[in-house]
Amino acid sequence: MSVKRQFQSDASTRERKQNMKRLEHHSKVLETLFNEATDRTEDSDNLLDIHTGEEAVSTTNEIDVQTDPPPRIHHKSMQARPRFRSAGQQVRIHVGCSKGILFAGTSPTKVLRVLKSINCYTITTRTFLNHQKKFLQPAIKTVWTKNRNNIVQKLKETNKHKELVLGGDGRCDSPGHCAKYGSYTIQDLTINKVLDVQLVQSNEVPSSVHMEKEGLVRCVRFLESENLVMKTIVTDRHTQINKWLKENQEHVDHRFDVWHLAKNLKEKLVKLAKDKQCTDIGEWIQSILNHLYWCAVSTPDGNGEMIAEKWLSLNNHIINIHTKHGRVFEKCAHGRLPAA
Ligand SMILES: [Zn+2]
Repeated sequence: MSVKRQFQSDASTRERKQNMKRLEHHSKVLETLFNEATDRTEDSDNLLDIHTGEEAVSTTNEIDVQTDPPPRIHHKSMQARPRFRSAGQQVRIHVGCSKGILFAGTSPTKVLRVLKSINCYTITTRTFLNHQKKFLQPAIKTVWTKNRNNIVQKLKETNKHKELVLGGDGRCDSPGHCAKYGSYTIQDLTINKVLDVQLVQSNEVPSSVHMEKEGLVRCVRFLESENLVMKTIVTDRHTQINKWLKENQEHVDHRFDVWHLAKNLKEKLVKLAKDKQCTDIGEWIQSILNHLYWCAVSTPDGNGEMIAEKWLSLNNHIINIHTKHGRVFEKCAHGRLPAA
């Protein structure tokens, strides 16, 4: 064997070993999720029915799997139906397929259509939905609850639970005012971990615009139930949230998120720059947004007067005046500018 071929063979063996390791790891993770979700031991895998998730009547390893008939295959060497070592292995591979689709966030219909179009033996959309309902969603819930409890426990152990700095934001299933579901997420900004996610359906509240506030209220209830105390919360400028926090959580320091502010400002500036008389603004947009971020970042103590004066100094700076801006922020922080 030539050196080159030897090298190629070594490389392919290494690759195969790595793939095997990866597969083993994936199947182990899945097995854990699977067992947690179903509370079954490994031995009982053999007795699970692929469609219902319930125990099969048969006591042998043979399970009557009622899937669609295998697609017709033109190439003789391809197998229409793969052979599995046991029914347990078949279940694991099929649930693994559903897991891959769900966790990757792709469309099951599209993925399964692709597999069918290349004559690859696979599960049906109905089976995917069954797996999702019976195994994957309970598994996600179990793992999420366990991880969240660990985070809460750690916060309490390190005594950080009495002064949480949180960020919160909501999202809807569709933009506009006719969304059906909205979720609200709160994250601890010091450890960058999500503490709670609450789902609100629009018919639980007067209208879909109330979903965001309701989500936050539920998150706060969760914090209270766990004896977690919010010190600061950063949100967007949602008026209902602003009002609710002022009235019900007076002790909390409520801040607005600069990212949302910058996003809103950018939309206005872009619109303005389209006006024939204001086209010069277009060249300033990025600098103005940078300045907005700088105003917040360069004032860690949150001094409102200082932030306001820094922001208003923008008008002077644009017309080449860099001093006498205000009482607390007198002159620009930048060095000497090159002559234009
Ligand atoms: Zn300046």
